[in-house]
Amino acid sequence: MEKLAMLYEGKAKKIYDTNDKNVFWVEYKDDATAFNGIKKGTIVDKGIINNKMSAMMFSYLQKNGVDTHFVELLSDREQIVRRLQMVPLEIVVRNIVAGSLVKKVGKEEGYSLASPVLELYYKDDALGDPMVNETHALAMGWATIEQINKMKEIALKVNELMTKIVAKAGIDLVDYKLEFGLIDGKVMLGDEISPDTCRFWDKDTGEKLDKDRFRRDLGKIEEAYAEVYTRLKDALENA
Ligand code: UDP
Repeated sequence: MEKLAMLYEGKAKKIYDTNDKNVFWVEYKDDATAFNGIKKGTIVDKGIINNKMSAMMFSYLQKNGVDTHFVELLSDREQIVRRLQMVPLEIVVRNIVAGSLVKKVGKEEGYSLASPVLELYYKDDALGDPMVNETHALAMGWATIEQINKMKEIALKVNELMTKIVAKAGIDLVDYKLEFGLIDGKVMLGDEISPDTCRFWDKDTGEKLDKDRFRRDLGKIEEAYAEVYTRLKDALENA
């Protein structure tokens, strides 16, 4: 397969065209942003960890019946994914209270939710990705009710599979963000699963092993990313 022109450069990835109209060539970067792009920086070799970790997690999900965009890992920073028509919604799945949920439910960070919470956000940088509900999405034509229901169903299945493997790695899966797209009308999981998009806490110490180390200037960012990757890789190999 041939890598052709760059089509899009996002905050964490570059997307290239290929000579196969069904797929994209993705290159993961070390650039890190937070707070809707206000905080900028570099996390050394983040692109390598996120590329390999995402490939590993998507393969695991795929093997367990989740339809994803993942095709193959090419190199440390590159992978091939199926071309999706993206739904402009982010689904945040939460198992443990953290971040903005503290103020919504009046529980402290770390409170275990009795069942997963699913939240929808409209993907729009200019608006700062506002939280929306299903009726906003339907009224605006961002997705159909069938697509939203399917996204929720996949998100819950992903949550079961992810929680299981993350627990084996001695980590709590606090919350994370998923994105979806369509191929011939079929809903598929897209984007990435990495310490950039998930909150991971060490089960024993509660130490944060994710992008919150960058957001909150906690130090040892590179070490945390590498640690999560290694522990998840071991957990998957021994699963
Ligand atoms: N998240 C993400 N990209 C986004 C928004 C959220 O990856 O554009 C992830 C984030 O890493 C965290 C979860 O989704 O694991 C919830 O984060 P959010 O930014 O919504 O913060 P909170 O509402 O928890 O303060």
